[in-house]
Amino acid sequence: MSTPRNEFLKQEQFDTIVIGGGIAGAATCFYLAQNGAHAALLDMYDLNTGASGRNAGSLHGQIQYEPFDQLGVDWARTFLPALEFLADSISLWKGLPELLNSDLEISSNGGIMVAEKEEDLRQLQIKVDLENSIGIPSTMLSQSELVAKAPYVSQHMVGAAFCPIEGKANPLLATPAFAKKARELGATIHTGVEVLKIDKMKDSFLLTTTSGDYRCKKIVLTSNAGLSRLVGPLGLDAQVVNSPVQVSVTEQIQHYIKYLFYFTTEKLTLKQAKSGSVLIGGGWPATTHSDGSISVNPDSLRSNLRVALKVVPGLSPVKVIRTWVGMGSQTPDQRPVIDSLPGFPGAYVGIYPSLGFSAGPLLGKTLAELTLNGESERDLSAFRFDRFASPAAALVGSEN
Ligand SMILES: Cc1cc2nc3c(=O)[nH]c(=O)nc-3n(C[C@H](O)[C@H](O)[C@H](O)COP(=O)(O)OP(=O)(O)OC[C@H]3O[C@@H](n4cnc5c(N)ncnc54)[C@H](O)[C@@H]3O)c2cc1C
Repeated sequence: MSTPRNEFLKQEQFDTIVIGGGIAGAATCFYLAQNGAHAALLDMYDLNTGASGRNAGSLHGQIQYEPFDQLGVDWARTFLPALEFLADSISLWKGLPELLNSDLEISSNGGIMVAEKEEDLRQLQIKVDLENSIGIPSTMLSQSELVAKAPYVSQHMVGAAFCPIEGKANPLLATPAFAKKARELGATIHTGVEVLKIDKMKDSFLLTTTSGDYRCKKIVLTSNAGLSRLVGPLGLDAQVVNSPVQVSVTEQIQHYIKYLFYFTTEKLTLKQAKSGSVLIGGGWPATTHSDGSISVNPDSLRSNLRVALKVVPGLSPVKVIRTWVGMGSQTPDQRPVIDSLPGFPGAYVGIYPSLGFSAGPLLGKTLAELTLNGESERDLSAFRFDRFASPAAALVGSEN
């Protein structure tokens, strides 16, 4: 007679359990397993059903314009450690196809932030200088340089900033590739298992789940929009606000959009996927209903498409075939949280709000390093869990 699953789980003690099967959790589990840890990954639904499988696939390596414009240069300076993190993660992305033995449809032709107003160009120059100060090789493009690079961009644009390290990858492929490799290295992955409660025992953690109890020495929380629900009962306030946004995709067309595009005046990300479809997003809000469910907001859809056509008018005959929503998250200062959980030695937390697909591989690697060694080679002081206790941190921004 086989052992009932719950009984079996009660007997098995893992070194580390990672809670949340998005890109951050799957990458963490992979790097743990790669370093010989007896690791498990749990997700309440299936892998990649959260933001990691619903995002627009942009690999961001520049300061986003909306928070820069709204929160100012002082905020942008405090964001630089988070930007360095993104740049290093993009470097990591480039080695993933070989490491994971999987084509993740990565390309890194660069990102172009176009402007239609001269005053925005002055702002972009300040932003470029800040990016250059940490080694990101962004440059300004004059109107003629922009036309030479991307003749399909509207002639109303007066110039742009170009960030050569940016690009795209396929969100439907990355998390499953990390999870597959983690399994091959001996990690345990259980889906349909919701963690309901975390208890700290003397030398271990006890997780009460919808599939019985799990025990482990250490835990890593990568539950993103579900973080507050998990740490609230521990007496901790994660200060993470959920932020539902939407993305649209067009029919497949001939390849001609080589770069990731943004627009300074209104929210936009626009890029062409390997399949030929054009992905149009930029953080336009979805509708949240009274029961907490989310759905496409038609006003956001209209605005998003209007902005896309303003930047690339030649897309007007192209059909949008699908729009979907995803639950993103945001911290008060838009920086990530990468830390141990205050008061709970052996528990770690990682969340990179709104740009977390780009950051996911390095977030996983850093969390694994923290879990295995208790410290990281990176300076993580800007990403502490408890920094919001200071009133100066009361900055509010938006999803990108
Ligand atoms: C529409 C949209 C577009 C975006 N576009 C981009 C983009 O182009 N580029 C970019 O860099 N970023 C983008 N982002 C942000 C990016 O997708 C996220 O920051 C990133 O995917 C977060 O990854 P994660 O692994 O931390 O979280 P998630 O992918 O959200 O995974 C968290 C997982 O935890 C599970 N979970 C939660 N609570 C529990 C529990 N109690 N027990 C068990 N499991 C639990 C959930 O089921 C979920 O699968 C976008 C986000 C959205 C929503």
